[in-house]
Amino acid sequence: MFGGWEIGKLAGISVRIHWSFLLLPAIVAGSVGSTAGAQAALGAVLFILAIFGCVVLHELGHALAARRFGIGTQDITLLPIGGVARLQRMPRQPLQELVIAVAGPAVNVVIAVSILIGTGLGPNGAATLLESNVLSGSFLGRLFWANVGLVIFNLLPAFPMDGGRVLRSVLAMMMPYTRATDWAAAVATVMAVLFGLVGLLGNPLLILIALFVFMAARGEAMMVRMQPEADIVQAGVVQAGDLMQQQFLTVPSYARVSDLAAWMPRMNQRDFPVLEGQRLVGMLRDTDVSMAMASGQRDRTAADLMRRDIPTVLRNDALLETYTEMERKGLGSLPVADAGGLVGLLSRERVRRWMESLQKQSSPSMARSQL
Ligand SMILES: [Zn+2]
Repeated sequence: MFGGWEIGKLAGISVRIHWSFLLLPAIVAGSVGSTAGAQAALGAVLFILAIFGCVVLHELGHALAARRFGIGTQDITLLPIGGVARLQRMPRQPLQELVIAVAGPAVNVVIAVSILIGTGLGPNGAATLLESNVLSGSFLGRLFWANVGLVIFNLLPAFPMDGGRVLRSVLAMMMPYTRATDWAAAVATVMAVLFGLVGLLGNPLLILIALFVFMAARGEAMMVRMQPEADIVQAGVVQAGDLMQQQFLTVPSYARVSDLAAWMPRMNQRDFPVLEGQRLVGMLRDTDVSMAMASGQRDRTAADLMRRDIPTVLRNDALLETYTEMERKGLGSLPVADAGGLVGLLSRERVRRWMESLQKQSSPSMARSQL
């Protein structure tokens, strides 16, 4: 999904950098170098790398917390906007999501406190540390404030930040998971709008963050609806034949629109396999028949109106792939066959309803990508 190069392994987890990540030190070196000289440029690049070191440790915090719950991490990728740890599956309980989400910022708290204690014992003490900020002061002083910034930024209660997951997991302890997600996504959207408004006053970076948060909130709400799908993919056990209707009506290819229009609307079926003899040649949608009827094409036949580019599904095809294919092609139903010919009809509506019922029973889960 993110690509990039592996730069090493930490605790057995592959750490990768995205190519665009290399732009950042290059831009910083270029802009600082041109005004303040080579040594300042080197210092600035080292500082950027130190921050990203802290980001890697932050991601490692998520990954190791997930590991405690038996969830592996595929890899940690560094992007210019931060890091992403890709968990192999979602935690099943809100408490697990909470712990995993908090573990990242907790690492930055530990780093900041370590710097504070370390320099507090030194000759200049903590005072000089507290006088510096992210942009000026000693190297450790700036790193201290960068970590404080990481904690605050990541704990903003908005997806995709950790704070958004914290909010969702806490809400999910009190209400169904999808509703908790909707609430958390709504909070994120409000925050995105606020960021955007403040950004319009003159901070383009905030506008960018606003867009980022806005899209992540939408994505999160949608992903949760797709979740059962993901679980089924992993299980890989549900097949087209499990959900197909075995009772269905077919239409001969020569049937006339005037005849079809008389009985099709009364049936509890929207799509009809069209047969030529015993052979399946297409699918006919009831609305196509009623439209043809309305425009006076009474004498056309099923063969004229049917869709021919219909893939036939096998009884033991994976349900999810079939469903995805139907979504992609905008098909209402697909014929299901086995060696003996047509055996069933799989409607998208039926699969969708079944997924919704799964949703209601399914245990909480979370998005895989942990910032
Ligand atoms: Zn995080």
